[in-house]
Amino acid sequence: MNVAVVGAGASGLFVSGFLSKKNIDVTLFDKNEKAGKKIYITGSGRCNLTNLCSPEDFLTQVVRGQKFLKTAIYSFSSYDCVDYFENLGLKTKCERGNRVFPESDKSSDVIKYLQKFHCKDVNFKFNEEVLDIRKENDKFNIITSKNHYNFDRVIIATGGKSYQATGSNGAGYKFAKKFNHKIVPIVPALCPILIKDNFVSSLKGVSLKNVTLKVSGDKKSEFFGEMIFTDKGISGPIVLSASSFINRCDNVNLSIDFKPALNEQQLDCRLLREFEQNKNKELKNVLKNLLPKAIAEIFGNVVGIDSLKKCNSITKEERLSLIKFLKNFPISFAGLYDIDSAIVTSGGVDLSEINPKTFESKIVKGLYFLGEVLDVDALTGGFNLQIAWSSAFCCAKNWE
Ligand SMILES: Cc1cc2nc3c(=O)[nH]c(=O)nc-3n(C[C@H](O)[C@H](O)[C@H](O)COP(=O)(O)OP(=O)(O)OC[C@H]3O[C@@H](n4cnc5c(N)ncnc54)[C@H](O)[C@@H]3O)c2cc1C
Repeated sequence: MNVAVVGAGASGLFVSGFLSKKNIDVTLFDKNEKAGKKIYITGSGRCNLTNLCSPEDFLTQVVRGQKFLKTAIYSFSSYDCVDYFENLGLKTKCERGNRVFPESDKSSDVIKYLQKFHCKDVNFKFNEEVLDIRKENDKFNIITSKNHYNFDRVIIATGGKSYQATGSNGAGYKFAKKFNHKIVPIVPALCPILIKDNFVSSLKGVSLKNVTLKVSGDKKSEFFGEMIFTDKGISGPIVLSASSFINRCDNVNLSIDFKPALNEQQLDCRLLREFEQNKNKELKNVLKNLLPKAIAEIFGNVVGIDSLKKCNSITKEERLSLIKFLKNFPISFAGLYDIDSAIVTSGGVDLSEINPKTFESKIVKGLYFLGEVLDVDALTGGFNLQIAWSSAFCCAKNWE
């Protein structure tokens, strides 16, 4: 039997190696000149290859495809993943939040071990873009930028549509549609959020730790941790998670709780103390004791209090307004950054048409879909790559 795998990314490399170990003749196509261009940029070049946790905990971090991925995650857990890479020779380490990285801190090592050892019997075809896939009788006819081929089966592992410079430009959706698969509309996930308030550009680069980003509107939730202002909006870990939560909502309200550890009463005591100790100072200068400088500068304006006002003339009402805004600083949602800035793509090949054990299409025999091209996505922390590894392992394990 001969198999074509389209896409030498995480899932394509992983499945190719396992199938070749079963003595299957595997040809792996990638339009790029080398394998794993997206793996290379993961984890800021360090590749957070998985997250060491139980399958139950893992699945709580999956945003779309939780039920569908259950079989795959249980058959190849993050512990299996670490064991597998270690056995290949790649030393790994586990950091804060159970995030696993190569000990070398080099994503290129992950690619190297996959390509050189895991895929040593795979026939690589680089610089060869798959342009079309047809099924004639029982064979798949693959038309590439260089040639025509016939294969018994085809695995589409072309990734999503974000960071297109890495090669994932959404071609997999086109192939899927051609074979009558439904595509769940794609939207950005794990991406920065656009904010329309004018003050945003003046806050560019300001980072916040231990704050809560509150989301309400169509859906309600809170995200605690770190965030940063960009020139057009906000980014950072809690913003990325929030984006995956709201990426299919129309009505979104956002606010920041700058002091989640303090309730309103405690915050009032804190303000009274600050004002008492700094009676003749301007409000904006005293707010610098509670907020980053750039935010303290604009805070009065947003609340509607003159920032130059002396603390001893701040009224009780004004103080209560300050508290209200410290706990609920509104920022106006203007949408998400575009799909190319997204860490992952939400949406893709409709899961109801894919067998969750084999990853074979229920519509076309011999056609398979793996990884981000499917309507699956998860939060940050190594979960998205683990989805690629697990889906690839499961497909190869149940190959008949
Ligand atoms: C900046 C960034 C950082 C990330 N960091 C992490 C992280 O640290 N941990 C984590 O778990 N996840 C991370 N992710 C997400 C993770 O990289 C992806 O979810 C994962 O790579 C998806 O694997 P895949 O095999 O589905 O697709 P990809 O890895 O995107 O591979 C798809 C491949 O298909 C090829 N291809 C596409 N179309 C064709 C065609 N027509 N012909 C031939 N070849 C084609 C592409 O060139 C590409 O090589 C990150 C993503 C980004 C963008």
